[in-house]
Amino acid sequence: MTPRITELTRESAAELAAKSGVPAYRAKQLLAWVFGRGVLDPSRWTDLPSGFKDAVGAAYATGDPAVTAVETDPGSTTEKFLLDVGGAETVEAVLIMEGDRSTVCLSTQVGCPVKCGFCASGLFGLKRNLTRGEILDQYLAIRNRAAALGRPVTNVVVMGMGEPMLNLGNLLPALATMNDPDGCGLGARHITVSTVGVAKGVERFTEEPRQYTLAFSLHAPDDALRGEIVPFPAAMSCAEIVDAAHRYLRAKGREVTFEYVLLDEVNCRPSHARALAELLRGVRGTVNVIPFNEVPEQPFRRPSDRVIDAFSDDLRARGLKVTVRKRKGHDIAAACGQLRLREKSKPAP
Ligand code: SAH
Repeated sequence: MTPRITELTRESAAELAAKSGVPAYRAKQLLAWVFGRGVLDPSRWTDLPSGFKDAVGAAYATGDPAVTAVETDPGSTTEKFLLDVGGAETVEAVLIMEGDRSTVCLSTQVGCPVKCGFCASGLFGLKRNLTRGEILDQYLAIRNRAAALGRPVTNVVVMGMGEPMLNLGNLLPALATMNDPDGCGLGARHITVSTVGVAKGVERFTEEPRQYTLAFSLHAPDDALRGEIVPFPAAMSCAEIVDAAHRYLRAKGREVTFEYVLLDEVNCRPSHARALAELLRGVRGTVNVIPFNEVPEQPFRRPSDRVIDAFSDDLRARGLKVTVRKRKGHDIAAACGQLRLREKSKPAP
C-alpha cells in the first residue's frame, strides 16, 4: 500500500529530491509544506516544480487525513475528531481550548491493551499500534482546524487511546517531527506523554534527550488498589513509579505529573489521601486530580464536588502540589475512547 504523505521523513524527502533531479533544498521546502504548514495536497505546493510534486504524489498518498466525525461541545471549548485509519477502525483525537492554550490530545494505538477499569479505550482490547504518520495525521488535522478557529496549538498531550510506552518505536519519531524546527516546530516542554508505567519504555523515554514532560497515570496510592484499577501485569509498581520520577528529574531536570482519576468510594477517601501523600513525600511533581468522566459501560461513579474538593485540599494540606482538571468535553464524551465507543455501537448504515 502507498504510504501516507505524513510518513515522509527528512531522509525520504532528500532521496525523492535526488531521484527527481531537483536541488536538495527542495526536500526542505517539501517538509515545510507537509509538517510546517500542514498542507498535504500537492496542488497547493506552489513553489515546488511539478516534476518533483509528481514524484512525491506517486510515492505517497496525499490529501488531508480522513476525519470521519467531529463533535463540538456546546461551550465550544472541546472538539473531538475520529480519524479513519483503515480496516473499519478509527482513533480519537481532541482539541481542547482553554484561555490562550489550545491543546491537542493524541492517540498512539487502535484500542488499548491496558484495560483500566474506568477507561473506554480498552473495551475492545488492542487492535494495533499507530504508525508515525497516523500520529502526525491526528496532529496536523487538528492543528489545521485550530488555525481556522484562530487558535495556534500550544500543547500536545499523548493521553488519547493506547499506551504510549508500548509504541515508542513510532511515537518518538512522530514527536521528533512535531518538535523539530524544520518539522512542526512545537517546543518539547509543551509535549506531555502519559503512561501507566511500563519499565522498559519509561527507561527509554528518560534517556531520550528531548525535554518532553512525563505523566504517570497513578490512580491509587498502593499496589493492591492500583492493581484493581489498572489491571495490567506489566505496569510498574507505585514504588517503581516514584523511583522513575526521581530519575526523570535527575536526567532532564523536569518534574513529572501524577494523574489520579477520582472514582467515588474507590480511591478518594481520607485514608487514600494520607497514603498518597506518604507515597509521594519528597517527590518533585504535581498531582493532577481528574474527576471521573462517567462511562455508562463502567461500574464507577464520579464523586461529588464536595469529595473532589476535600480530597484535593487534603493533599495540599499534606504538602503536595495539586491541580484539579476542569470538566471538559463531558457532553461530547471526550474521555478516552468514549466517542469511538459510541460510534462503534451505532447500527450500521
Ligand atoms: N495509557 C496511557 C495514556 C492514556 S491517557 C495512560 O494510562 O496514561 C489515560 C488518562 O486518560 C488517565 O490518566 C485519565 O486522565 C484519562 N481518562 C481516561 N478515561 C477517563 C474517564 N472516563 N474519566 C476521566 N479521565 C479519564
